[in-house]
Amino acid sequence: MRWLQNYPHFLELAYDFTIQALRPFRRWLKPGGWAERVFVPAEHTGKGLIFNCQMCGQCVLHSTGMTCPMNCPKNLRNGPCGGVRQNGHCEVKPEMRCVWAQAWERSRHMPTYGHELFNVLPPVNRSLQGTSAWINDFTGAAQQNPAGWVAASDIQVVP
Ligand code: SF4
Repeated sequence: MRWLQNYPHFLELAYDFTIQALRPFRRWLKPGGWAERVFVPAEHTGKGLIFNCQMCGQCVLHSTGMTCPMNCPKNLRNGPCGGVRQNGHCEVKPEMRCVWAQAWERSRHMPTYGHELFNVLPPVNRSLQGTSAWINDFTGAAQQNPAGWVAASDIQVVP
């Protein structure tokens, strides 16, 4: 079902629809509860088939052109490394197109979330690996910085 990624506008509509559909149930969407036991295999199967989801638990698909950044061999979440080949393929896996080349192309067909490709994303929180990204989104766990991390908004960039 990977072909679905080539219809990113449909996927962003599906994303919005899912948020609206789940919102009334958010009080039951708790980490470690029955909902997590249902959501984890559902996400593993559903998002696995479409996005080759690696279950990072902190989904950013709508900000990355509906292309899972955890498929990048370097797990880069803020754009490509300097090793993209001239044909747009990966330097680590030459047979594979660069995840970020695909993310860029797909994001150009996403009128709602395409601009989010330019957002700077925090490093992935590895402690959420294997948990439900939907539940982490609703509880806010996906947006929290682990202890000791500095928020991206607190970083001062000196020109
Ligand atoms: S960003 Fe994380 S949760 Fe989303 S598809 Fe990729 S591995 Fe899965």
